[in-house]
Amino acid sequence: ANKKRHLNVVFIGHVDAGKSTIGGQILFLSGQVDDRQIQKYEKEAKDKCRESWYMAYIMDTNEEERVKGITVEIGRAHFETQSTRFTILDAPGHKSYVHTMISGASQADIGVLVISARKGEFETGFERGGQTREHVLLAKTFGLSKLIIVVNKMDDPTVRWSKERYDEIEQKIVPFLKASGYNTKKDVCPWWSGPSFFEVLDSIEIPPRDPNGPFRMPIIDKFRDMGTVVMGKVESGSIREGDSLVVMPNKEHVKVVGIYCDEDKVKRAGPGENLRVRITGIEDDEDKVKLKPVPVVTEFVAQLQILELLDNAIFTAGYKAILHIHAVVEECEIVELKSQIDLKTRKPMKKKVLFVKNGAAVVCRIQVLNSICIEKFADFPQLGRFTLRTEGKTIAVGKVTELSSA
Ligand code: GDP
Repeated sequence: ANKKRHLNVVFIGHVDAGKSTIGGQILFLSGQVDDRQIQKYEKEAKDKCRESWYMAYIMDTNEEERVKGITVEIGRAHFETQSTRFTILDAPGHKSYVHTMISGASQADIGVLVISARKGEFETGFERGGQTREHVLLAKTFGLSKLIIVVNKMDDPTVRWSKERYDEIEQKIVPFLKASGYNTKKDVCPWWSGPSFFEVLDSIEIPPRDPNGPFRMPIIDKFRDMGTVVMGKVESGSIREGDSLVVMPNKEHVKVVGIYCDEDKVKRAGPGENLRVRITGIEDDEDKVKLKPVPVVTEFVAQLQILELLDNAIFTAGYKAILHIHAVVEECEIVELKSQIDLKTRKPMKKKVLFVKNGAAVVCRIQVLNSICIEKFADFPQLGRFTLRTEGKTIAVGKVTELSSA
């Protein structure tokens, strides 16, 4: 089997920044798509008078391909560098990209933030309402420990590989990245002496994952194919054929009858892998005692950082939003504000809090309609960080601080 490590990568950034083009370029340069396919995409793009877009066609699988792609991984592509196998998550289509970006980011290990250097485009993407800022915050929330910044379209006639333009962009973006919790180093040109994008990808270091921890794989999709097949990324622990597992929150005891990693059937797999796992139900399970299923709750306490509320609304008990946590999307309601966090000391303030506004940090109790599986952020960051969204906008990011049993 392939001994290289495996990383999930998600491309983020404002629409038209060049995410799909770069994704397509990577697949082409790493030999994942052949000339025949390229010609087909080139022709397709030409037929639609969008010649310059053909690289993007490699990534942007159309609706029809999505439908029949159910047993293949949806809109995913693979490539390798010397040290690492990469999966590009959620090939960015043009439409509701933030939504797919969220499901992609929840499984990603690293992010690639694509920024267009073209005059006007960088500015639009970086303004309030532009997707650059929102995507960076989402990436951080979802635990992407590393973000590679690609300053794209340096060849554009409004840029002409200008170092001044690059510096200008760097000056604007670096303070923002730092404020979002990312330490920064440079990336990408004739005056450029740093590493190439591939070199960065190849050598990027991410925190180790525990192959001996409890087995955790948030399920992003399932389908029937000789039994039930569930898809997801292993966040911790290992899985072997023949293992007994519990599917939560239904407490369904199952046996693992097949494990598939990319196109290969494997006997076992560890953390970081994207798998399809074929399972069958079992009645009596002698292994039951050994299993440590993930906590299930309908209520939890969390620390929230409020970003921008719609129409500058106030945030108070009764506020409803959509909770995005690992692979889960659930309606939720704020049932109690417990305390406001002093932004200077980062400590809870003594006085009672009834409502807060934009920019506040607050500890609150949150209720969801259906049971969900989550962990405290301190125990398991990947299953304990989330975003709250209303009407398609991210209004807050948060981490789980206490679980109440369901
Ligand atoms: P996405 O929305 O971020 O996926 O952006 P696309 O990959 O679809 O690219 C949007 C447009 O920018 C297309 O017309 C591309 O051909 C163009 N584009 C992408 N990368 C570059 C680049 O490096 N230089 C120039 N000049 N154009 C680019």
